[in-house]
Amino acid sequence: MKFIADSMLGTLAKWLRILGYDTLYFPNMDDDELAYRAMAEDRILLTRDQELARRRGVRAILIKNAPLEDQLLQVFQELKLERQNCFSRCPICNEPLKPVEKESVRGKVPPYVFQTQEQFSLCPGCHRIYWKGTHWQKMKELLDKVLSKGGHDV
Ligand SMILES: [Zn+2]
Repeated sequence: MKFIADSMLGTLAKWLRILGYDTLYFPNMDDDELAYRAMAEDRILLTRDQELARRRGVRAILIKNAPLEDQLLQVFQELKLERQNCFSRCPICNEPLKPVEKESVRGKVPPYVFQTQEQFSLCPGCHRIYWKGTHWQKMKELLDKVLSKGGHDV
């Protein structure tokens, strides 16, 4: 399942990446190009634009004007998605993350993080290093909340 999000839905796009879904997002892409990429790459178009959502040949979801967690819930419910591969993709550039040896990040992450974390991942696109710190905990809590509402918790 792959997505492309319109310019209004940057936060939702970031979250779908965190959830492991290949999601394109460009802040300045126009409607024609969004529709074209959706069809050409077999992506589900996520949009707030009614006309765009109705375009012939495009599989689209008209996203509600709602808080992020309700938007996520809408996508999960409409597509009957389940949680999988969470935190496996870079939220900034959509690249799948690669697990790396702890020793290889010595000096590249704060000392406290190096001491307290065991698992690290690297984005091959932007070279950011990820670990499951407090930010991860907050995201996980939001995710638990969204998925328990949707009845898809695993
Ligand atoms: Zn990245």
